[in-house]
Amino acid sequence: MIQRVLLLAAWLTMSVFAADSGRLRVLLIDGQNNHDWRSSTPHLKKVLEASGRFAVEVVTLPSKGGDMAAVKPKLDGVAVVLSNYNGDLWPEELRTNLVAFVRNGGGFVSVHAANNAFAKWPEYNEMIGVGGWEGRNEQSGPWLYWEGKIVRDTSPGPGGSHGSQHAFQMTTREPKHPIMEGLPPQWMHAKDELYDRLRGPAKNLTVLATAFSDPKTHGTGKHEPLLFTIAFGQGRVFHTALGHNNGPDLTSQKCVGFITTLLRGTEWAATGRVTLPIPTDFPTASDVHSRE
Ligand code: ZN
Repeated sequence: MIQRVLLLAAWLTMSVFAADSGRLRVLLIDGQNNHDWRSSTPHLKKVLEASGRFAVEVVTLPSKGGDMAAVKPKLDGVAVVLSNYNGDLWPEELRTNLVAFVRNGGGFVSVHAANNAFAKWPEYNEMIGVGGWEGRNEQSGPWLYWEGKIVRDTSPGPGGSHGSQHAFQMTTREPKHPIMEGLPPQWMHAKDELYDRLRGPAKNLTVLATAFSDPKTHGTGKHEPLLFTIAFGQGRVFHTALGHNNGPDLTSQKCVGFITTLLRGTEWAATGRVTLPIPTDFPTASDVHSRE
């Protein structure tokens, strides 16, 4: 009898681990992007899973003009949805499901050009806070920049631009936020596009980090917000404007600063807490550190 009870207890324990493994389920959506998503998706999946904290399932939506409704991503049991997607509007069912998922406490992560997507979808723009291109203008919401605090500029003009690609220094603006706690005040990010003049509703938005958009590299001369969190209903959004890629070299996404903030931001979006450590190879104020 005692043996049976012990066996049952062992079986139950194993079942719980098999079902969960302690990993947070990430649903990564791709299939269209003006960037090389076929290279970046496997990289993002690899770095997320290498942390030991996440299990990543990829849902690839049809290419441009395809039958979107043919693929129906299931959000049951998912902790966080990560978008590596910029393209055709999602079908109504997926849009409704995603909004309900985040509103009810789920997590959402927007990587780089995912913030170009869906300029005309109001809830999406509330979730990402700010975005660029695709006809965004003053009607989308203010421009944001940092002058000792967040400045909201409602002047007319387009949303979204960038200068020439280069490595640039990131500045932490919310050192007490769980995602940023323990990161250096300044760190060098690998060569990337420095998005500027993003605009959107910017409600319930926190700017975690900015970078100076230098006119020498055709920037705005302003400190541009590049890492954000947004509260949306009961849910949490982490938005990284970093991570440009045109091909398999993935320079910007191999930066340890990109990887660390993505991992910690994804964990925070999923759970509201951060347990993942800051690695010893995190970049310094002057030196880029990258990982293959
Ligand atoms: Zn880009």
